[in-house]
This record gives sequence, structure tokens and C-alpha cells, in this order.
Amino acid sequence: MGFTKFGLSDQILQGVLAAGYATPTPIQSLAIQPALEGKDIIGCAQTGTGKTAAFVLPLLHRLVTGNPIPAHHKHPRALVLTPTRELAQQVQDAVSTYGRFLPFRAIAIYGGVNIEKQLKLLSRGIDIVIATPGRLLDHMQRKTIDLTRIQVAVLDEADRMLDMGFIDDVRKIIRAIPTERQTMLFSATISAEINMLAANILRNPQTVTVGRRSIPVETITQHFYSAFRESKIELLVHTLEAEKMESVLVFSRTKHGADKISHRLGRKGISSVALHSNRTQGQRQRALEGFKQGRFRVLVATDIAARGIDVDGISHVINYDVPHHAKDYVHRIGRTGRMGAAGDAITFVADDERKHMNSIEKFTGQKFSVKPYPGFTPIRRDGAPGQAATPHREGFHTPGSNFRNQGDKRKKKPRFEYGRKRKPVTKFESYSSDKSGSAWG
Ligand code: AMP
Repeated sequence: MGFTKFGLSDQILQGVLAAGYATPTPIQSLAIQPALEGKDIIGCAQTGTGKTAAFVLPLLHRLVTGNPIPAHHKHPRALVLTPTRELAQQVQDAVSTYGRFLPFRAIAIYGGVNIEKQLKLLSRGIDIVIATPGRLLDHMQRKTIDLTRIQVAVLDEADRMLDMGFIDDVRKIIRAIPTERQTMLFSATISAEINMLAANILRNPQTVTVGRRSIPVETITQHFYSAFRESKIELLVHTLEAEKMESVLVFSRTKHGADKISHRLGRKGISSVALHSNRTQGQRQRALEGFKQGRFRVLVATDIAARGIDVDGISHVINYDVPHHAKDYVHRIGRTGRMGAAGDAITFVADDERKHMNSIEKFTGQKFSVKPYPGFTPIRRDGAPGQAATPHREGFHTPGSNFRNQGDKRKKKPRFEYGRKRKPVTKFESYSSDKSGSAWG
């Protein structure tokens, strides 16, 4: 049976149908019913499982049936907190989609954009607020928002919210909303810290879990290729071409690195754009939209910027560098293989990154082997073809495989000079180094 079994209001059902969903996903099957009964929920699910609808549908239903306060009342009745602006925007899109036959108004409130527009929208009356903690607190301090009539509160991606240091902000916000409310907390991982937060803000919650978070999604094939740090860009270009990759998310650990990779791809005629927290909100939105619409073949993102990105059809995730935290690896590769689709995750491993790979193996309980990329001859710093970082079997580091230990005294001069005169590339969006935007409202 599809969504009819839940007893959602007709307008919501129509919204779900219009979104093209026929069958609830596992997290939806588990969470929607108890949420409709008014229970507090702890939802353990990663992005890509359909978790947004799992809380948005019951939230809308409650607003339809729960209270006679008219739509667009001065006081919002539902609040969703998200760690990043992108996620806030995505949740707002989901609310607009599922609630398209309802009279409710929703607003996404986040930093990095002009506050005046938000003030105008707020003054017109709003039913649902989706916000990052920083900007919401800003509005609360200005008294431009009144949260005293909130009936449903959702914490989306709570683990990330804690990772990003929002715990005090979240607590402050929760203290400002009525204790008589329904609360739902969604998180990819349930740590002791999350449990503590949940114990403080939820009442007799029902816990629903889908999948084991630390294990990457089964439909994703994981590849590890050995690489010299200095020839990773050539390996990237080679990989993009050899596998005819169309919609590729490349991860860089640093913002500067993301810019650099994107520039270099541009110089090779590969349309790409960088997404990270030093970009203004407008730039970030354009980057994401351009990638979604296929104007950019490659999106080069940092971990925080990519968190929660919901882009259908990412065929490949490439880790240009090995993430230092195993959790980030799982988040990264989860951007492909969404909703059960097949996907490929590729990681370039330099010798000095083996230790991070070992932590990934420990975290995921999987063993990986690092191989040379077929048909690619890595170029060493001195320009000579070289043997890439030593392949290792079954994920174990071979003592002495680090080329620095092999008497290699090459100078640390990069093969590519950043800022070298380059040919103009049309399909490439270049951004100035604008530091005005912060990643999280
Ligand atoms: P989420 O995990 O909420 O980010 O959702 C991931 C993707 O799954 C989004 O593109 C949703 O539109 C899509 N989705 C959510 N629920 C369903 C469903 N029941 N059937 C098909 N697609 C869905």
C-alpha cells in the first residue's frame, strides 16, 4: 500500500502524488505513523533515505488538523532547524512541494543573505519556519520572530548541528518555544551527545532507524587509486574522461583546494564550479542550480558545503583527498547511490594519506585495496613518469612504501603554477575570493 494507509489529509496526499511518490521509503514507513499520532520521534537515517518527507508530511498534517489558528498567523506554528543554508533551502522546497495544495506559508531563514527580505516576509505572517540556528537567534534577539506558538519542532541532521558547534544555540532556541509541543530529531548517527540532547528536549520518543550509518550504502561501489599528490589533478582529468563521467561531485578538504581544483579543471576545458563557505549565498545557489541543471559537469565541494546536498543522479563521487574523519567519508560517498540507485565512489590515495584510509576501514568494517588507475601513468614532480604510491593489499600499509622513505629528495615545487596565464574557458564560473558568507547562518 502507498501513502493512503497513513490517513494524511487529501491535500497532502495530492502533494505527495504530484511529487511522483508511489511508495513510502523505509524511514517514511516507520516514522510517519507514530509522528501522526503526535509522538516525539528520534529518526536515525541518512540523507537520501527520504527522511525529509518523513517529518514534513506529519508536520503539515498537524497544521491542517491540529489547531484552528488561521493560516499566515503572526506566529509560526512549526519550526525546522537545519545545520546549513542549503539544507534549509531544500527543506523549504520539500514543504512547498508536499504542501502545494495547502494555504501555508513557509520561510527559510539563514545567514549570508540580506535580512530585510526576511523581515518583510515575516511581517506578512508565516506558518512554517525553516532556519539555521545563527540567523534565527538573530531574529529572536531583534524580536522580529515570535516562537511562542510553535507546536511542532524538528531538528534535522542533529549530529551535524552538534559537530558544527550549534549545541548552545539549539538549546537557546528550544528554551524559547513551548514545552507543550511535538519534537522530532533526525540524525545520521546517534552518539552519546545526541542521546543527551534528545533526553533534554524530547518526551518518551519513539526511535526509528534505517540502515547502519557507519556502513556506506550497499549500492555504492568503492574504488581506491594510488596517486602522487602532485599529479592528482591529471589523474582526476584522466578519470573523468576515461569513465565518461557526467555528473560528478569532487570533494576537497579545503576551500582553497576546491577553488584550485575547479580552476584547473576549467583550464582543461571541463565545466566545473566550486561550492564552499567562502562563496556568497548567491554564488552557492548558482553553483548548485548550475550543477543540478547540468551546466557544470563537476561540482567541487568541501565537506560542510556538501552536507545534505540533494542532487539526483550524481553518478560519481571523487575524493580528491582522503578525508581525515571516517565519518566524513561515509557522508561524502552517500551523495551518490541515493534512493537505492547505483553509484561509484573513487578515492585518490597518496602515501601520506594511508593512515586516514586505515581509520575509514576501521570505521566501516571494510577492507579496501589501493590500486593504480588502469592506463594512467602518474607524473612525478620532476616531470618523469613515476610509479604512483605503492599499491597495498587488503588495506594494509606496506612499511617503507612512502616515497619519502625511499631516498626521494625531490624539491617540493608544484608541477602547476597557480595563477599561470590561462586560456579563457567559457563554461566555467569563476568566483572572486569573497569571504563575506559564512557556511551556517
Ligand atoms: P531526503 O533523504 O529527504 O533528502 O530525500 C532524498 C530524495 O528522495 C529526494 O529527492 C526526495 O524527493 C526523494 N524521495 C523521498 N521520498 C520518496 C518516495 N517515497 N518515493 C520516491 N522518492 C522519494
